[in-house]
Amino acid sequence: MSDCIFCKIASGDIPGDIVYQDDRVIAVNDIDPKAPVHILIMPKKHIPSLNEIDDSNKDIMAHILTVAANLAKAKGVAEKGYRIVNNCGVQGGQSVEHIHFHLLGGRSLAWPPG
Ligand code: 5GP
Ligand code: ZN
Repeated sequence: MSDCIFCKIASGDIPGDIVYQDDRVIAVNDIDPKAPVHILIMPKKHIPSLNEIDDSNKDIMAHILTVAANLAKAKGVAEKGYRIVNNCGVQGGQSVEHIHFHLLGGRSLAWPPG
């Protein structure tokens, strides 16, 4: 999608602090980190939110979680623990309408979220 900031990062049109990518997925450090480790993992293909996940595209979800688990290990937070977050829609706190999963770690995380 031409006006989507995450599509532009995925295509290389604007820079991102890329920590991992393959043919389907890209992971970048969040521009405004909320924890010592704060990585955004997303499909390169534009999917607006979790509301658009169905049987036709569900495989990308497994791949994103596998990438997240590998990054947690690579960043050294797997043993102590971390959190994967998907904000969906207005009340879920989603601010960028290109599906992404936050990997947060490196500090204790409160529960429940605000
Ligand atoms: P959401 O609120 O949609 O769940 O999360 C969007 C996230 O994207 C926020 O944590 C925000 O800091 C991050 N973000 C917004 N614009 C950019 C950007 O241009 N580059 C990067 N790396 N992160 C961004
Ligand atoms: Zn997009």
